[in-house]
Amino acid sequence: MLNVPSQSFPAPSSQQRVASGGRSKVPLKQGRSLMDWIRLTESGKDLTGLKGKLIDVTEEELKKHNKKDDCWICIRGYVYNVSPYMEYHPGGEDTLMSAAGSDGTDLFNQIHPWVNYESMLKVCLVGRMAVKPTVSKDYREEKKVLNGMLPKSQVTDILAKEGPSSPSYDWFQTESLVTIVIYTKQKDINLDSVIVDHQDDSFRAETIIKDYSYLIHLGLSHEIQEDFSVRVVENVGKIEIVLKKKENTFWKCLGHSLENHNSFIPKKDAGLYYRRCRLISKEDVTHDTKLFCLMLPPSTHLQVPIGQHVYLKLTITGTEIVKPYTPVFDSLLSEFQEPVLCNSKYIYFLIKIYPAGLFTPELDHLQIGDYISISSPEGNFKKSQIEELEDLFLLAAGTGFTPMVKILNYALTNIPSLRKVKLMFFNKTEDDIIWRSQVEKLTFKDKRFDIEFILSAPTSEWNGKRGYISPALLSEFLKRSSDKSKVLICICGPTPFTEQGIRLLHDLNFSKDEIHSFTA
Ligand code: FAD
Ligand code: NAP
Repeated sequence: MLNVPSQSFPAPSSQQRVASGGRSKVPLKQGRSLMDWIRLTESGKDLTGLKGKLIDVTEEELKKHNKKDDCWICIRGYVYNVSPYMEYHPGGEDTLMSAAGSDGTDLFNQIHPWVNYESMLKVCLVGRMAVKPTVSKDYREEKKVLNGMLPKSQVTDILAKEGPSSPSYDWFQTESLVTIVIYTKQKDINLDSVIVDHQDDSFRAETIIKDYSYLIHLGLSHEIQEDFSVRVVENVGKIEIVLKKKENTFWKCLGHSLENHNSFIPKKDAGLYYRRCRLISKEDVTHDTKLFCLMLPPSTHLQVPIGQHVYLKLTITGTEIVKPYTPVFDSLLSEFQEPVLCNSKYIYFLIKIYPAGLFTPELDHLQIGDYISISSPEGNFKKSQIEELEDLFLLAAGTGFTPMVKILNYALTNIPSLRKVKLMFFNKTEDDIIWRSQVEKLTFKDKRFDIEFILSAPTSEWNGKRGYISPALLSEFLKRSSDKSKVLICICGPTPFTEQGIRLLHDLNFSKDEIHSFTA
């Protein structure tokens, strides 16, 4: 609903206006950008018409506010007067009006669950729903059950019908250590599957099991040292988190439960958890793209799986703004290491700075040593999609190259069946090509890898291919190494580029399973 560019972007003649079947971004009027909205929210104007009072809203009351100039919407139990926001909504007024006077939670969750509407719409808050709204009944009931408010047997019953069986945990201690053991009852668990944070008085261990999230959330009974270790016994799906006691005393109990402790809920309902990371370095990669290195806190264990992204959060003029970014390695030529060997505290990002953008100029202004919040990972790419692959084709436009970095690295290092890896990299000019020399070096380092640069606005000296993604380019490029070779095509770039690419790939008879597109 919220954090998207404004005004007539893309420009009317831009390629990004290629008709698309996806989520619409509506050109906004002059003075209605996200930054303009933030300024309005900071102006002190009474945007709800309630003079700062919060009220309990009944279903009947909510229904009455269903007109453009008097539009209330409920999101996750809270009611907002979104009339003042109408003209600023990048998804257009019609999308907002489709939830007018009702519960928009499902619509919101469908389109952009990660957007931090609480901060964006804080001055539009009317109050809480007094009774359960009708449309989001399932969502609220599911939350209630899975937050552990029903007996455990019922939780397990409900999940058993659709998801993996419920994990459990236990703990034991020695004189100096406390070990928390999570029994996932799944075999495909690894060090990427568990995210541990110890901040202030809260200890959190979130384990991702298929599309579910199992949370241990405790206030520990005694103090622990900053660093801890995480081990996974893969064949039995057991995770061990080994904490070091600050004092060698006997713990009578592990701690007390905090919010959602011992809950096992669909990941999409779990919400994003952020931790503050320090900016360690910032290096120019092209004229507008930089490599940022951030350091996780010492008391965090987090590894971003291949093909997944995280959200970065900054407070801009008093409003929290969140944007997704895909971690890369510090170099394309880094040797791939299994997570067990690279328990790295550093996360790298290749980020393009848009001078007229909202988020990236702020990011660029951060000084070394400044902090930025990073969420837990998200995304639907699975390593299993590359296993036993013979041909891997990567179609990237601009910073759409970022998910390809780890995929390329992993595939070339870990997939013995692989015969061919080809990257088709679309950019405007030669100066825009990210890590060009590294990409070229990789073609020498590994004979299975090949690269094709396509430029849309090259100089007259460019001898390579030019143009945009097209049937002719793709049919020549996507040659299987054998008739029945197992193939995967990954595509990432501006949304209209990706959508057009998918249509062309279907026209070339590649099946759904042979295509993976990276989108929001
Ligand atoms: P925005 O404010 O969104 O502006 C974007 C563009 O619109 C700019 O060109 C800006 O000049 C133009 N614009 C803004 N306002 C106007 C206006 N009023 N009129 C005309 N034009 C306007 N990006 C990366 O660089 N690296 C990554 O690894 C990466 N990973 C991503 C992963 C995912 C899953 C997704 C969905 C996106 C990813 N992105 C990545 C893109 C990133 O999330 C942001 O969209 C991007 O950084 C732009 O943010 P911004 O707020 O600076 O720009
Ligand atoms: P860019 O420089 O604007 O574009 C790169 C190339 O793609 C240019 O040659 C451009 O041509 C071409 N192009 C743009 N739109 C096109 C279209 N509709 N059809 C055909 N070709 C098109 O790219 P960028 O500024 O780096 O943006 C990268 C995009 O990737 C962003 O939108 C970002 O959100 C997205 N991204 C997504 C993910 C993810 O995981 N989902 C990860 C990283 C980045 P012209 O400029 O000449 O039109």
